[in-house]
Amino acid sequence: MNIIIFGPPGAGKGTQSKFIEKKYNLLQLSTGELLRNEIKNKTQLGLEISSIINSGDLVSDEIVSKLIEKYISDQQNKQRLIFDGYPRNIDQAKNLDKLLKKYNQRIDIVLKLSVSLETIKKRITERKSQEQRTDDSDEIAIKRFKTYELSSEPVLDYYKQSNLLKVINGENTISEINVEISGLIDAIKG
Ligand code: AMP
Repeated sequence: MNIIIFGPPGAGKGTQSKFIEKKYNLLQLSTGELLRNEIKNKTQLGLEISSIINSGDLVSDEIVSKLIEKYISDQQNKQRLIFDGYPRNIDQAKNLDKLLKKYNQRIDIVLKLSVSLETIKKRITERKSQEQRTDDSDEIAIKRFKTYELSSEPVLDYYKQSNLLKVINGENTISEINVEISGLIDAIKG
């Protein structure tokens, strides 16, 4: 099963992905984490993208596409990926379709975590003290939320058309969301 987990920064995508990954033996593919690792390891790519990430903008589609193709093309990951943070705009959604087709795969469900800006601000402040992310300052967090509204929200319409989209109240507790997500996944697993 391939899953997209969707929502604004701070919605809990990472937390829920890790839960689904374990429960259903899938692999979380977090483009944000992959990009942060490039920066941490001071690779050439890391040097190129660090200022973009720290400003709250999106990295180029081409860079992220290359990163995800590596995972999609790996036979061991076939039909067992959780896309966390991808796609983030319509072009990426189209590109993901193309890549999945190329490797004979498909998306089974799109889980959208709905959260208010107020909650996001609170969660990002909490996360700041735990993860020390350089893009979690209040100012950049708001910028990332705006980028989400502008570029990423339209992606939802793309998936609404294909009936894959399930909207979840991301204001609930982590365990309540775990239960809801499990119910949705179990229902399509049959
Ligand atoms: P995240 O951990 O998903 O919040 O991502 C952190 C940052 O990585 C984002 O603010 C972007 O700068 C970059 N990033 C992550 N995923 C993507 C993507 N699919 N397309 C472009 N940039 C991305």
